[in-house]
Amino acid sequence: MIRIEKLTKGYRDCEVLGNLSFHLEPGEFAFLQGKSGSGKSTLLKLLYREIEGFTGEIEIDSIPIGNLPKYKLRRKMGIIFQSFELLDRKTVLENVMLAGEVVGRDTKEIESDAHRLLERVGLKEKERKYPHQLSGGEQQRVAIVRALLNKPRILLADEPTGNLDTETALEMLQLLKELHEEEEISMLIVTHSEQVLKSLPGKIWVMEDGQVHEASKD
Ligand code: ADP
Ligand code: MG
Repeated sequence: MIRIEKLTKGYRDCEVLGNLSFHLEPGEFAFLQGKSGSGKSTLLKLLYREIEGFTGEIEIDSIPIGNLPKYKLRRKMGIIFQSFELLDRKTVLENVMLAGEVVGRDTKEIESDAHRLLERVGLKEKERKYPHQLSGGEQQRVAIVRALLNKPRILLADEPTGNLDTETALEMLQLLKELHEEEEISMLIVTHSEQVLKSLPGKIWVMEDGQVHEASKD
């Protein structure tokens, strides 16, 4: 599903990722851990093509990432950030629907998917609200729905619980785990929380010295 071989990426004169290899299989639920500044966000941004320019190979479904137009890539892959990144002047429903509009989908179809997913995560009553009228946990659920709107096969999450209290963070991860099973999506979740890592099953990758290796749970 995701295949990375010998990936090297730096900014100006500093190398962040060096000869990194990594695979995410279809249907996998995996965590990525590592010190601040170790390159986790850089890896996710390369996968999402938010940043470009690297050496080595990145393939999504056996297609080199550079050969995938962004709109196609973004139908295969959704992403969630720590800061939610919702638009303040748009309602919950509009924020979610925008993800479908930018890839050129039919409005009726987008709207019915948005209603279904918002109901699934318990936000049906909040569709007409604005982001500032929601709690942090609710805002993150909107961001999850937005990321899933186009039925991607892969979900990337960059410290999705970093701005949430522990209890809400655990609920959020539980929700992601359930959606992983219901929607059959592979997930790669960057997290620092030991509690999260211990409470959910899933492979743990650790980023260190520009590379990733698999860690055991204890
Ligand atoms: P992490 O997400 O693991 O905290 P990042 O991928 O954000 O790490 O950053 C890895 C390293 O790359 C850090 O040393 C950071 O300062 C540097 N870096 C990140 N983005 C940029 C950028 N746009 N320009 C220059 N250096 C950057
Ligand atoms: Mg980061």
